[in-house]
Amino acid sequence: MIYLDNAATTRVCPEAVSAAAEAMESGFGNPSSGYAAGREAAAALKTHRATLAAALGCAPEELCFTSCGTEGDNWAIRAAVEHGKRRGRHLITTAIEHAAVLEPMRDLARQGWEVTYLKPDRTGHVPVEELKAALRPDTVLVSMMLVNNELGTLQPVAEAAAAVKAFDRDILFHTDAVQAFLKVPFTPAGLGVDLLTISGHKVRAPKGIGAQYIRKGLKLRPMLYGGGQESGLRPGTEPTAQIAAFAAACSAWSGAWPEQIRRVKEYALEALSAVPGLVVVSPGDAPHICAVSLPGYPSEMLVRALSDRGICVSSGSACHRGKPSHVFAALGLPKGVLTGVLRISFSPENTFADADALRDALLQITRERVART
Ligand code: PLP
Repeated sequence: MIYLDNAATTRVCPEAVSAAAEAMESGFGNPSSGYAAGREAAAALKTHRATLAAALGCAPEELCFTSCGTEGDNWAIRAAVEHGKRRGRHLITTAIEHAAVLEPMRDLARQGWEVTYLKPDRTGHVPVEELKAALRPDTVLVSMMLVNNELGTLQPVAEAAAAVKAFDRDILFHTDAVQAFLKVPFTPAGLGVDLLTISGHKVRAPKGIGAQYIRKGLKLRPMLYGGGQESGLRPGTEPTAQIAAFAAACSAWSGAWPEQIRRVKEYALEALSAVPGLVVVSPGDAPHICAVSLPGYPSEMLVRALSDRGICVSSGSACHRGKPSHVFAALGLPKGVLTGVLRISFSPENTFADADALRDALLQITRERVART
């Protein structure tokens, strides 16, 4: 199988598998237990939190483990709203966020909050000027993603956060960095954000683990109430195996990989220019994601035809139940381009040969179509 859908999820790396197995076998104690097995689990948890904090570039105390990116995004938005509800009822986000941000925003809109959706330009970047124009005295939260999951575009989060804080320091800024973590260089403090969400399964850790950065000094309402774990913010017995695996995946991640991944992506885009009619919708600023389109070939059909040839790419969020995604729709693409979109996303495991195989398969699919007509 040639797996080119790494923005959807990644293969779990061997280091993460071993770390999870060890945590489940010899390290199975409950970190809250007072005897040796519990104390060992608590010490391991502390080490893993420090590893993840170092990878993200924050203090260990600023990290709270969650179950996934969706949970982190939802929590950040709900907690920010709770935090600011006495100041106003206006929220700002972008039209190209993941559903994990858009759906809680829609829910809040149903409850009477006013939500402004910033539109991207034709290249998939949200202009900071749009944000500045949308800020109001009653704005309580801005949520802008760092890397878009369908286009790979990098959003101007640092500039946006600076503009928001210059307007009013009390407006909270959240960024969904699920697709950015370990792929593009950033730190939460460097971006100037209050809240930041990441997820393990995009970086070769298992599904079911994520983390939330909460800026030091920001007092948030807990997501849950219970036994006091995660500083009382998200109690529940810690998923020690997933946490161990997340930390192991971060330690195993090489700083050289983003450039390596970028070279494979650029090679792939070059190779795909041999496919008649193929257009590049977004080359992606992030190293691992790009979007192309074959007008006249519906995405779902292309995904199936490539799958028959052992290649996995996504129409994924690109085309949901026959409807083009909100992200591609927001770019104002012509209909033919919109319906033939494919997202191709890379990991350190991908090679130039994978890109050649994708080009050859698409060439074959287009030739077969010509032969039939
Ligand atoms: N945000 C973005 C940008 C994503 O790409 C995803 C997953 O595709 C999520 C949030 C949701 O993350 P999770 O699958 O961990 O819930």
